[in-house]
Amino acid sequence: MGLIVQKYGGTSIANLERIRNVAERVAKTFDQGNDVVVILSAMAGVTDGLIDMATQIAESPDKRELDVLLATGEQTTAALLAMTLNAMNYPALSLLGHQAEVVTDDTFGNARILDIGARHIMDIIENRNIVVVAGFQGCDPNGNITTLGRGGSDTSAVAIASALKADICEIYTDVDGIYTADPNICEKARKINTISYDEMLNMASLGAKVLQIRSVGFAKKYNVPVHVRSSFNEEEGTMVVSEDSGMERLIVSAVTHDKDQARITLKKVPDQPGVAAKIFTPISESSIIVDMIIQNTREEGQTDLTFTVPKAAFSNALEIERNVAKEIGAEDVLGDINIAKVSVVGVGMKNHSGVASKMFNTLAKENINIMMISTSEIRISCVIEEKYTELAVRVLHTAFGLDKED
Ligand code: ADP
Ligand code: ASP
Ligand code: MG
Repeated sequence: MGLIVQKYGGTSIANLERIRNVAERVAKTFDQGNDVVVILSAMAGVTDGLIDMATQIAESPDKRELDVLLATGEQTTAALLAMTLNAMNYPALSLLGHQAEVVTDDTFGNARILDIGARHIMDIIENRNIVVVAGFQGCDPNGNITTLGRGGSDTSAVAIASALKADICEIYTDVDGIYTADPNICEKARKINTISYDEMLNMASLGAKVLQIRSVGFAKKYNVPVHVRSSFNEEEGTMVVSEDSGMERLIVSAVTHDKDQARITLKKVPDQPGVAAKIFTPISESSIIVDMIIQNTREEGQTDLTFTVPKAAFSNALEIERNVAKEIGAEDVLGDINIAKVSVVGVGMKNHSGVASKMFNTLAKENINIMMISTSEIRISCVIEEKYTELAVRVLHTAFGLDKED
């Protein structure tokens, strides 16, 4: 018996039948004598649909209002699950982010959790009620509704689990754990039984969206045990824990991909001190996160500068750079949204050479052109044409000996 936090993602609650399935899982956990706090996403596709509607009204809708709109997706599912549990004669109560005292900063669309008042939820569960919290949302100190960035209900769950000192935070999704590559594109991917926070942080930051990166950071900081598993079967999933020495034996432990990338190139930039600052300051002032940057030196004191940004920030970044180009005297600004980043990751890479050349050779054999490269001691990433993403993931997975046995 304990206190269990369960988070269900969009596919797991995509319709009333699946909500009923979730309610049965929650009820079973409750019947075993546990206290249960459930965190929900919106139904699959709902957040996208809401964003789509908002952008039909304005290309860049007001960020505060957009969060008010997006939060409704989770409001709907939280109420529906509480109702379903009530109809099954289980005492359940839904709470919106602000009612669950999820206090965030005021970065609309990508707010950070500052504090969670655990007392209110504790009072409810002490009376043997099931609490259903709308994930992905909080409120800033002025009472404005905020959202936590795409995939943010994972972070709601881990943060609430940490505030409540829950015994475990279970993340229920549409795959039965964390795999050596996205199992939806690499059928030879292997399920990982346990993974360290650091390794998962690495994978999430390189595109493995099975957990939102901030949720892993939170889990690591507060040592919250996380179990990623499927809501469609009873299989044991993947435990995310503080240490797992097993994985260090592998040089490359996973292959990840990230299609949420776009590339911007400034051509013939004057090669002078201060130019990079002029290029990147307005980008960071617009809260756009730049990932990779490369600079190619040309002759005649000019360089080409290329960098990547999330696809959603592409048109904004392009517009900013067109203005910068005029100001600094760059010849042209080019953009490309049909790119993706594939990465091989593994802490075991630290002490091995040859990983990069193996990666480059493997991609070359398939005629996949590498546009950009970045490395750290625990990963190598290549930017390629988006249409080769699946192929690249599969051939790298095989080349690094990660394929499961048939
Ligand atoms: P949810 O709606 O439940 O939050 P998400 O779509 O956010 O689900 O995350 C689950 C998805 O993550 C899977 O369907 C899978 O395609 C993707 N994914 C990417 N990389 C991995 C990986 N290494 N292991 C498992 N799933 C992965
Ligand atoms: N509904 C939100 C999204 O689609 C949050 C989440 O699913 O975690 O991004
Ligand atoms: Mg998710």
